Amino acid sequence: MRSAQRGRSMAAPKHRRTALERVQKFLSETYFTDCNLRGRLFGDRCPPASLSCFQTSRRIPYDEAVGQKFSPAKVGDSFGPTWETCWFKVELSIPPAWAGREVHFVWESDGEGMVWRDAQPVQGLTKEGEKTSYILTRSLKEMEPHSLTLYVELACNGLFGAGKGSMIAPPDPDRRFTLSKAELVVFNRDVYELLVDLEILLDMAQLLGEENQRSFQALYTANQMVNVCDVTDPSTFPAARDLAAAIFSQRNGESQHTIHAVGHCHIDSAWLWPYEETIRKCARSWVTVVHLMESNPELTFACSQAQQFEWVRSCYPGLYAQIQDFVAKGQFVPVGGTWVEMDGNLPSGESMVRQFLQGQRFFQQQFGRICSEFWLPDTFGYSAQLPQLMRGCGIRRFLTQKLSWNLVNTFPHHTFFWEGIDGSRVLTHFPPGDSYGMHGRVEEVLKTVKNNKDKGRVNHSAFLFGFGDGGGGPTQKMLDRMKRMSDTDGLPRVQISTPDRLFSILEKESSQLCTWVGELFLELHNGTYTTQAQIKKGNRECERILHDVEVLSSLALARGGAFQYPASQLQRLWRLLLLNQFHDVLPGSCIQLVVEDALRYYAEIRRAGAGLQEEAVRSLCGDLLQPEAGSAESTLVLNTLPWERTEVIARSGPAGTETLALVTVPSMGYAIVREPVLPAQPVAVRRQEDGSIAMENGVIAVCLDVMGRLTSLRLLDSQRESLPDGCCANQFALFDDVPLYWDAWDVMDYHLETRKPVTMLLKPLEITLAGGLRGSASFSLRVGESSTLTQEIILDATSPYLRFLTQVEWKEAHKFLKVEFPVQVRSTNATYEIQFGHLQRPTHWNTSWDWARFEVWAHKWLDVSEHGFGVALLNDCKYGASAHGNVLSLSLLRAPKSPDATADIGHHQFTYAVMPHRGSFQDAGVIQRAYNLNFPLHAVPASSAQCLAWSAFSVSSPAVVLEALKQAEDRPDAVVVRLYEAHGSTVVAWLQTSLPVKEAMLCDLLERPAAGGRLPLEQRGVRLSFTPFRVLSVLLVLGQ
Ligand SMILES: [Zn+2]
Repeated sequence: MRSAQRGRSMAAPKHRRTALERVQKFLSETYFTDCNLRGRLFGDRCPPASLSCFQTSRRIPYDEAVGQKFSPAKVGDSFGPTWETCWFKVELSIPPAWAGREVHFVWESDGEGMVWRDAQPVQGLTKEGEKTSYILTRSLKEMEPHSLTLYVELACNGLFGAGKGSMIAPPDPDRRFTLSKAELVVFNRDVYELLVDLEILLDMAQLLGEENQRSFQALYTANQMVNVCDVTDPSTFPAARDLAAAIFSQRNGESQHTIHAVGHCHIDSAWLWPYEETIRKCARSWVTVVHLMESNPELTFACSQAQQFEWVRSCYPGLYAQIQDFVAKGQFVPVGGTWVEMDGNLPSGESMVRQFLQGQRFFQQQFGRICSEFWLPDTFGYSAQLPQLMRGCGIRRFLTQKLSWNLVNTFPHHTFFWEGIDGSRVLTHFPPGDSYGMHGRVEEVLKTVKNNKDKGRVNHSAFLFGFGDGGGGPTQKMLDRMKRMSDTDGLPRVQISTPDRLFSILEKESSQLCTWVGELFLELHNGTYTTQAQIKKGNRECERILHDVEVLSSLALARGGAFQYPASQLQRLWRLLLLNQFHDVLPGSCIQLVVEDALRYYAEIRRAGAGLQEEAVRSLCGDLLQPEAGSAESTLVLNTLPWERTEVIARSGPAGTETLALVTVPSMGYAIVREPVLPAQPVAVRRQEDGSIAMENGVIAVCLDVMGRLTSLRLLDSQRESLPDGCCANQFALFDDVPLYWDAWDVMDYHLETRKPVTMLLKPLEITLAGGLRGSASFSLRVGESSTLTQEIILDATSPYLRFLTQVEWKEAHKFLKVEFPVQVRSTNATYEIQFGHLQRPTHWNTSWDWARFEVWAHKWLDVSEHGFGVALLNDCKYGASAHGNVLSLSLLRAPKSPDATADIGHHQFTYAVMPHRGSFQDAGVIQRAYNLNFPLHAVPASSAQCLAWSAFSVSSPAVVLEALKQAEDRPDAVVVRLYEAHGSTVVAWLQTSLPVKEAMLCDLLERPAAGGRLPLEQRGVRLSFTPFRVLSVLLVLGQ
C-alpha cells in the first residue's frame, strides 16, 4: 500500500550523488543497519547446544579425530600456534519455532575450516574466501530432526598461510587463531536476493559513468526500489524485485561481447603453506564446489593439476566419487593436462613431456578423456618450446593471464596464435580481465570488455571466477550476480560456460587473429631463475638421475634376462620431481617448510635412483663387475649420452685412493678400461713470477691471476684470444638486491647500478694438481660481509673447456652474486639453451622489450658468437643468466628474506665452465659438451675381462640429440626413444641400435602411435627426418 501511495508522487531524483549514497547506505554493513536492508539479512540466532574441541599438531583423518577426547570450548577462544589443527564437535539444536525458515550454521574464524557431517566433508568455511555459512536446511520441516552433530576441522592457518606482518613475509610461528562466531541463524533469502539486485544496479550506476544513459536508468531504478521497500514488511519486496527484473531483462543488441564465465579455484600446490595443507585446501575448496553444483546445475568449474586430483582420490574417496559424477555431467571440468601447474621456464624438455604424460594419462584413466586445454594461469613465463610439446600431447589450446603482470611492456594480445621455436602453433587466450579469481562483479565484466586487445577480431572471452591461490573457489553470490548480468543492455553478455565452448568459438573466429612468435617472457619475477639454489640443483640433478636410470634400465630390459623394468618406482620418483616443479617451488618463491619438503623429495630421488641404477647396471653388465671388493683391476665406464666421449675420469682404488684415467666410451654404452690411455698432449701447469698460473692442454691455454681471474683464454689451433684487452673473466660481482615487493621473486633493473666487483682475497691462487691428465689451481675470496668462496679451476686433458668447481659459504642479506665473462666477441644476439633447443635474445637494450630482459633464463649453456668464433658458458645447476654487450654473466646466488628468511643461507657447490670455440656453437659441439658436464660418466670397478666396448644406440647426425630412452607406458616389450633436432636445421638422421628390434614406429609424446608412422627397419637402423627443433618419439618393439 505504501509503495502505491508513494508512487503517485514519485519523480526521478535530481541529485546524482545523494541518490547514489542513499542506495549505498541502504546496503551498508556499517551504517544504519538498524533500519536498512542489510540489517535484515539474518533473523533469529541461537548458539550451539554444546561446543568442544581437541587440538593436534598433525593433520589426521576424520576417523582418528572423532575418537579423541574433546574438551569444552567457547566462541572467543583462540587456538594455535600456526599449523596446528583444532577439531570441534558442535551439537546443534534448531528451535522448533524456526519451522519453514532457511537455517544456516554460521562459523567465523581466521583459520580455514572444514565442516564434517555424518563422517563426510560437506563444506569449507573460510572467512577470507567469503564462506561463513553452511546451509543446514532451505526450509525447515516440522518432521525433520532438529538436533544434529557437526565436526569442524580448523586448520591454524589462513587462506594465505600465516605471514607475519605481510602476506609474503615468513610465517609467524606463534600466531593464534580465534573462533569469533559459531551459531545457528535464520537466513532471509528474500532480503539476500534484493541486496544482490541493488548491488548490481548500484555498480552499473557508478561504473557505466555519467555519459552513459544506462547508468542513470540503473540509479533511478535502485532509488525507486528503496522507495518501494519497507524493510520491516517482506511483502513489499516482490514489487522492488520486479523493478530490478524489468531493467535486467532489457536486452543487448547482437554485437555485444560475450563473456564465458567458468568457475575456478587456483590452488598453489605449495606456497605459503606446505604440500600437506594443500591436500586439505583441495578438499575444502572442491567439496564447496560440489555442494554449489547440487543447487546450481548450470555451474561449471575448471580444475587443473592431476596431482591434486590424486591427493583427493586417496585422502577423500567419498568426495572424489562425487567429483567423478560431476565430471561425467560436464560440470567439473579437468583442464591443463599436466601433473601440476609447473614452472614454464626451468623444467627440462623431458620433464615438461612427463608433466603432460603423467597428467594426461591420469585424466584418461580417471575420467575417460584427456584434457584439450593447457592451463597455466599463474606461471612466471612460458618457454618457446611449449607449443610443440602441447601439440604432441593432444593439446591445441592454451590459457594463461600472467603476462598482464609485465612491469615494462603491455602484451599486445589477449587472443592470438602462439608459435614456438619449431613453428608449432596453439590458440592462446588470456582472459582480458587479467585475473583468474574474478568475483562476478560489474567492474570486472566491464574491464574484460574494455581491456580486450583483440576487439574486432574476436568477440568472446574467458572470465574465471572464484577465490584462488590459497583455494576457496566460487560462491553462490558470484553466481547470483552473474545471473543478473546474463544479457542486460549496457553490460556484456555473461554466460556460464566451459573452456571447450569458449575455445571452440574462438577457433571459428580465428581468421583475423595475430601470431606471436617465440617465448612468452614475463617481465617480472626474474629472480626466480636463481632463488633457492638447492632446489634448482635438486631439479637438475634429479632430471639427470631419472634420465640415467631410465636409459640403463631400458638397456638392461632390451638385453633380456630376468630384469624387471622398475616402472612403478620410476613413476613414483618422476611424480616427486614433477611435483617439485610446481610454480612456487622450483622458482623458489615458497616458505621454508616447503623448501624442506622439496629437498626431502630430491633426497629420496637420489637415494632410490642410486639403488635403481645399481640394479640396472648389475643386470646389464653383471658378468663384467668385480666379484669381490677391494681388488679392482679394471673399471667399467658407462655413458648414458648418445655420442662417444673421451674424458678424464676418477677411478677409486684401494683404501679410498683415487686415480685419474683418460677413457673413451661409445655412445649409450660402456667400455672396460684397464690400462690408462695417455693423452696426445698432457696438461701443463706453470706458475709465473707474478704469482699468476698458466695452464694448457693442447686445445686451450689459460692464464689466471692470483684472484683466480682469467686474464687470457686462448684457443690454441687458431691462436685466438677470447678475452678483450685488459679485461678479466671469471670476475665475481655482488649487487644490492632489494626489489619493490616480491622479494624471492624479483630482481629489479636498478640492481645493475649497484655492481661491486669481488676483490677481497683470502687465499691466493695456488696449484693443486700439477698437470698430466688434469691440472688445477684453487683460491678463496671473501664475498660481501661474511661469505666466502673457494674455487678450484680445472683443466682436463683433451677438454675444450675450463671448469670452475665452486664452493660458497653464503650468509648475505639482499645481495646477488654473479660471475662475469667479458669476451672478445661482437654480436647483437646471444644464444640460450631452452627445452629441446635454443633461442636468441638481444645483447643490447635498444627498445623497452630488449631492456626488460636484463635478466633471463637458460638451461645448460649460453653462447655469444660472431662468424667463425664464439664463447660459451656452461653450467651444471644454474638457470639465471644475461648477456649485455660483450659480457656473459651467470647468476649464482641470491639472498631474499621473504617468504623464506633462511633462503639460500648455507653451503653451496656448483660448477660452470667456459668454452671458447671456432666456428658456430653448433659445429663446435657446445651442446654436446654441456650435456657432458651435466651427465658425468659412471665408473664401476670391474673384473679383468677382455677389453671390450658396447654401444646400444648411436645417431648419425650431430644435429640430433637422443634425449630420452624409457620403457613404453603400455607395452612392456617396447621402449620409447625421444630425439630432437638441436642445431635449428633440417636434417635426415639414422638412429642405429644394436638392440634386437622387430618393429619401429613414430608416436606422439603420449606414446600413441602416429597414423602411418611405421618406420622401415634397415641395415643402418631407422631413418628420421627433422625440421628445426623438431622432437620425435620412436616406439621400438623389442625382440628378434
Ligand atoms: Zn599460483
